[in-house]
Amino acid sequence: MESYMPISYLNDFIFCPRSIYFHQCFGRVNKRLYHTTDQTDGLNAHKTVDNQTYSTSKDVLQGLEVFSEKYGIGGKIDIYDSRKKLLTERKKKIKVVYDGYVFQLYAQYFCLTEMGYNIENIHLYSMDDNKTYPMEKPENDSEMFNKFESLISKMKSFSMEDEFETNPNKCRHCIYNTICDVSVC
Ligand code: SF4
Repeated sequence: MESYMPISYLNDFIFCPRSIYFHQCFGRVNKRLYHTTDQTDGLNAHKTVDNQTYSTSKDVLQGLEVFSEKYGIGGKIDIYDSRKKLLTERKKKIKVVYDGYVFQLYAQYFCLTEMGYNIENIHLYSMDDNKTYPMEKPENDSEMFNKFESLISKMKSFSMEDEFETNPNKCRHCIYNTICDVSVC
């Protein structure tokens, strides 16, 4: 398989493009060394999917490896129900529907459709409070679709040498602020 950008990087890139570099540096280190509690909870929420133990129904695909040649992205989907033609991305608790969540869903959607799967509906699901957030498919939401494409193009062209304006508020909450050379914390 050609090299591709992991779908999980979309959200991180929105938070801070430079965090992707640290992700790559720490990619082979035990995740507990650098994940915050929230991130670990999120990972555990996805664990059943990664281990493919969420459902035994043959209609439900879990943790399937997917790839989009068009966008050069790939990763694992969360849950796709082929009978309902429904794609779900679960989060531990959704307090705000961030663009990054929607773009992760879009990325899975584009990968799956490119691979020939039929998807009629997409949604986000907040596990802690059992809330579902139905989303428009990208072709029905031109503003979000354009934002998604612009994000992918920025990710492809980003360089650590690019001019960069540090956001102190983000640095304060960043798990890499002790190792990042431009952190203001
Ligand atoms: S410390 Fe600040 S600049 Fe560095 S990766 Fe984190 S948010 Fe970005």
